[in-house]
Amino acid sequence: MEKITQIDELKARLADFRKKNYSIGFVPTMGALHQGHVSLVERAKKEVDRVVCSIFVNPTQFTEKTDLERYPRTPEADEKLLRAAKCDVLFLPAVKTIYPEPDQRKFDFGIAEHIMEGKFRPGHFNGVAQVVSKLLVLVEPDRAYFGQKDFQQLAIIKQLVRQLNLPVSIVGCPTVREPDGLAMSSRNVLLSAEERKEAPVLAKMLFEVKGKSKRQSVKQLKEWVRGELEKNSRVNLEYFEIVDAETLAPVEPSHIIDENDRGTELVACIAARLGKVRLIDNLVLFP
Ligand code: AMP
Repeated sequence: MEKITQIDELKARLADFRKKNYSIGFVPTMGALHQGHVSLVERAKKEVDRVVCSIFVNPTQFTEKTDLERYPRTPEADEKLLRAAKCDVLFLPAVKTIYPEPDQRKFDFGIAEHIMEGKFRPGHFNGVAQVVSKLLVLVEPDRAYFGQKDFQQLAIIKQLVRQLNLPVSIVGCPTVREPDGLAMSSRNVLLSAEERKEAPVLAKMLFEVKGKSKRQSVKQLKEWVRGELEKNSRVNLEYFEIVDAETLAPVEPSHIIDENDRGTELVACIAARLGKVRLIDNLVLFP
C-alpha cells in the first residue's frame, strides 16, 4: 500500500492506473477505522482493479468544535487494517491541501438536508458535500463506496453526484454491527463502559420496530420508541423517524406499513446522545 499526502503524487499514481486501464474504487473515511470501513474496502477489492482509501477528518462538516477536537485519531492502527485489507493507495491530505482557501460553496439538497441529521446538525451536510465533491473530483473513481450506516449521507451523496454530473457510481454497503447489535462507529470508543452497555438499545429499538411495523401506525411506533427510551436514563433520544429511502420524506403518522407500500423502501432512523457521544443508526423496515 502506498501512502500519499500530496495531490500531484496522487494524480501521478492515478494516471498510472488509468494508463494500465485499471478501474478505480474509492473509499473516503475520517479514520479511526473499524470493520465497517474494512467491509467497504473489501467490497471495492472485489469490484475494481485498484482501491484508494482516504483518511481526512473534514473540519467543515463538524458543527461543534469540541466534537472535531475529540474525534478519535488512530493512524497506526488504521494503516495496519488497510494493509491487511489490501488497499492499494492511502491518501492522507492535510487540511490546507483540501482547502487551500475556504470553501464558500452552498449546496441545496431540499428536504434531505433539513430533517433528522440536517435538523440536529445544521450545515453538516453542506460540509460533507464540500469534501466529498472535492475528493471525487481529485480521485475520479469509477465507483465510490459508502456505508448505509450513514443512510441520510448516502442519499445526499447520490443527490450531489446527480447535481454535479459526476461520472461515478455510488455503491451503498450494509451496516456492520458488533455482536450485540450496536452499529460499528468510530465514536463508539468514546463511550464510557456504562454507556457502551446501554448503546445497543438503539439497534434493539430498530429491530423491534421492524417486527411491529405492520401492526401499528407510524405514530404508535414513534411513541413506543420514545416511551421505551425514556425509561433509560443514559439515552437521550434526538429523533426517531420513518422515511421514504428515496425522497427522505417522513411517512404520514397514521400510516400502517402494508403490501401497498411495495415499490417504496421505508427506513427507520434513530439518533441519540449517550453522555457526550452522539450515535445514529437505521434499518430498512420495508420491503
Ligand atoms: P466515517 O469515517 O465515519 O466518515 O465513515 C466512512 C465511511 O464508512 C462512510 O461511508 C460510512 O457510512 C462507512 N461506515 C461507517 N460505519 C460503518 C458501519 N458500521 N458499517 C458499514 N459502513 C460504515
